[in-house]
Amino acid sequence: MSKIGFIGLGIMGKPMSKNLLKAGHQLVIFDINEAAVAELKQAGAEVGISPKDVASKTNIIITMLPNSPQVKAVVLGKDGVIEGAQKGSIVVDMSSIAPLVSREVSEALAQKGIRMLDAPVSGGEPKAIDGSLSIMVGGTQADFDEILPIFKAMGSSAVLTGDIGAGNVTKLANQIIVAVNIAAVSEALVMATKAGVDPELVYQAIRGGLAGSTVLDAKAPLMMGRKFNPGFRINLHIKDLGNVLETSHGIGVPLPLSAAVMEIMQALKVDGMGDLDHGAIVRFYEKLAHVEVKRQETKSTSVIG
Ligand code: NAD
Repeated sequence: MSKIGFIGLGIMGKPMSKNLLKAGHQLVIFDINEAAVAELKQAGAEVGISPKDVASKTNIIITMLPNSPQVKAVVLGKDGVIEGAQKGSIVVDMSSIAPLVSREVSEALAQKGIRMLDAPVSGGEPKAIDGSLSIMVGGTQADFDEILPIFKAMGSSAVLTGDIGAGNVTKLANQIIVAVNIAAVSEALVMATKAGVDPELVYQAIRGGLAGSTVLDAKAPLMMGRKFNPGFRINLHIKDLGNVLETSHGIGVPLPLSAAVMEIMQALKVDGMGDLDHGAIVRFYEKLAHVEVKRQETKSTSVIG
């Protein structure tokens, strides 16, 4: 078992670090949120006084922070990981950030002989709690193989998709598909509802066909049940689509659909819905069409299976 540093104990980092403790690893933790630190200390973790301190006491340092600026500050800033880490140590950044920043941070670390993997996750808080996250990794095969047992304590799958930055490129691809898919589900259910057809029956009729998707199964019932508590907050998805658009424009890839969904999310944010689940995209379409996607009282009598 390893002694692991863990920095960033939020919605995701807290359950992920608890799973590492459960698997028998020793942890040295740091966060600017004292309540989160106290909770992990109670669970058995040692408390570090700075990222530098955490790095000086461990050889594997995991970060789970909001976005690129926080990762740069924690790893490369004053009292940062880079000041305390030993030659040969490895930083595993599991935050969802811009791939170019992963490469930039990795290059700075490499100058001091410190290795890095970028390893963002998908699955949200429930999968962070039950240790079944999907982990998308960029870096070398040897570093991936070394960290794999640690990934297994937090996730049900870990795939090395390429060199450093490839994990976050994969995460951006994931976030494009999810965002555009939720918007497509919203358009379809608003149209069906205003046309007078029960959206629940539309959902049941199409979910086994080509229009079926994990997003449809996860979000359509929540939309019809008017459940918009997060989940995955619109504000976080805006952050990810910001990274998507910046990255794609930088390499010459126009993304018309992602750009449109970004503006839909911006409109919802202005309407005070930034902290709702991204399934609340349906509310943008409902406002345009003056209709609410709700189940009707009628029930189908012709469902087979
Ligand atoms: P969060 O805001 O709940 O947690 C971030 C933590 O980082 C907080 O505890 C905060 O205090 C800490 N932090 C911020 N700046 C710091 C600093 N300078 N030094 C030390 N600690 C600092 O965010 P989260 O939901 O846990 O998400 C973390 C990352 O995982 C994000 O990149 C997010 O996009 C990604 N992610 C989130 C989900 C989700 O469903 N929440 C799902 C997949 C991926």
